Amino acid sequence: MTKENVTSEDFNRCADFHGHVCPGLAIGFRAAGAGLEWLRENRSVDEELVAIVENNACGVDAVQVLTGCTFGKGNLIHKDHGKQVFTFIGRDSGAGVRVAMKPGVIELSERHRELVKKIREESATEDERKEFWDIHRQKSQEILGKPVEDLFAIRSTNATLPGKAMIEPSIACDQCGEPTMVSKLIDLDGRNVCKECLDKP
Ligand SMILES: [Zn+2]
Ligand SMILES: [Zn+2]
Repeated sequence: MTKENVTSEDFNRCADFHGHVCPGLAIGFRAAGAGLEWLRENRSVDEELVAIVENNACGVDAVQVLTGCTFGKGNLIHKDHGKQVFTFIGRDSGAGVRVAMKPGVIELSERHRELVKKIREESATEDERKEFWDIHRQKSQEILGKPVEDLFAIRSTNATLPGKAMIEPSIACDQCGEPTMVSKLIDLDGRNVCKECLDKP
């Protein structure tokens, strides 16, 4: 499939995690594969990897499975830019690689778009649903089979990261009583309230 040491079995693991096969998942899979390949070739030290993703769509699931960078570990950072751009860097050095999807890569055919619309509006017939998933899988396969340089602009990068989150004590919110990290509490007329309580009307 791809020339990285990433196998179709790896893609199946991503699809299992994500719940379906789709072009977005294929993009994330190829981006993560390209990033890991670049890092293997260009990085000497074995520091913790951090992934910065500039969207929160399907492909991010493949990034999590392939790189092991997850929200819970704090090494998956989401920037809400709505772009298919994935950066993989070392935690300490900030050095790494930026993988950005090229224009046109994920463009859908007219029929594909028509079917997406019908599915969204829940007006697709059984046959149209089947046709949609056939086209959707085909498009994913196409992305999986393309040379990586057709898909992405890849360049080295240096990113500065916010410091690692500190383990800090929690105290009870004066309103709801739920334990809350001290730095997240807001002073409301001398009472410490959590953000959820603050937002309540
Ligand atoms: Zn998907
Ligand atoms: Zn509260």
